[in-house]
Amino acid sequence: MLHTSYIELSKEALNNNLQYLKKRMGDHAKYSMVVKANAYGHGLEQLLPMIEECGVDHFSVFSVAEAMRAYEIKKDCCQLMIMGYIDEDHLEWAIEKDVSFFVFTPERLQKVIEVARKKGKPAKIHVELETGMHRTGFCEDQLEEVSRLLKKYSSYLHLEGICSHMAGAESIVNYQRMQEQIETFNKLCSWFHSEGFQPAYRHLACSAGLLNYPESIMDMVRVGISSYGFWPSDETKMMHLKEEAFDTDPLQRVLSWKSVIMSLNRVPKGKYVSYGKSYMTNRDSKISTVPVGYGYGFSRTLSNNGHVLVNGKRVPVVGTVNMNMVVIDVTDAENVKVGDEVVLIGEQNGNTISVGSFSDMNNSLNYELLTRLPHHIPRKQKT
Ligand SMILES: *Cc1c(COP(=O)(O)O)cnc(C)c1O
Repeated sequence: MLHTSYIELSKEALNNNLQYLKKRMGDHAKYSMVVKANAYGHGLEQLLPMIEECGVDHFSVFSVAEAMRAYEIKKDCCQLMIMGYIDEDHLEWAIEKDVSFFVFTPERLQKVIEVARKKGKPAKIHVELETGMHRTGFCEDQLEEVSRLLKKYSSYLHLEGICSHMAGAESIVNYQRMQEQIETFNKLCSWFHSEGFQPAYRHLACSAGLLNYPESIMDMVRVGISSYGFWPSDETKMMHLKEEAFDTDPLQRVLSWKSVIMSLNRVPKGKYVSYGKSYMTNRDSKISTVPVGYGYGFSRTLSNNGHVLVNGKRVPVVGTVNMNMVVIDVTDAENVKVGDEVVLIGEQNGNTISVGSFSDMNNSLNYELLTRLPHHIPRKQKT
């Protein structure tokens, strides 16, 4: 193994998730898989073709740079939608390649009209509405002007969608706020309808919207985290396992992260391990190193805290996580040898390290830890 660790991607798990989520979504809506942030750390280049083979052909990214990367991989055979950043210089590229994008400021709308006119080709836009998140989106008092421009420049603006984003559908604590958002969104969609607009897609839901608020599904769902096999929150997970009386998790993790045992030492009782004095052996110990550290996305918060799997056993991280190495206590694992497989995230002999327990904290950290997995770790499809 040339590299110090690698990421394995399971197409079987991916397909399982997409089928389960599509079934929940229903046939009437479009499934857009969110592949921003390097496909949630999984690796865009490797995952995109796999997703497409599983029957999804619509992808959402955050920025124009991500859209360009996705375009390089798939060319014209899928639809791309940019939900966030595009600089003025690249609007032309998006219009030329039929990439749709969110519009959420008057300045962006004006610029789009200008560029589309110059190109002589309509831009595929999704008008983003402010419905209660207070992040991006047109406010109600701006909509008359938006409507006026859409009508006036109808040959340069193709209104493909109207959308908004839910500010916390993963927790029942936000129930009231979500109801208000859905209501506001519906009201504003009706207003657009009364103005004579009939966009193909009204969309509001993310994973948690799809799973917890079926009424938020509408014409399209932008599904991120759950497509990769992670529940948007523990709360959502428990509700679904209970509600559907499943005895197994309907979502399966697509990603595993693996490395190897690099060294093995005997350390007597009463010695400090790794930098400083954060860990002292309390017995004669077998201590190993794994060539992955915080420079590889193995968070320092896992110092004296995280676990990995070796020979099917769950063993603890001891001492501080270093830049390139982590030290583990393998005293309780049998027959450990240099070169043995170490699972940092994933399964080994029926034991699992989830990103959740990898973080040993709140599930919402799944998003953060996944997207911090560096680009330079090689990705390969599980065979
Ligand atoms: C990231 C994102 C999503 C996907 O959210 P998940 O919780 O990962 O499903 C959907 N819509 C927008 C606007 C987003 O930024």
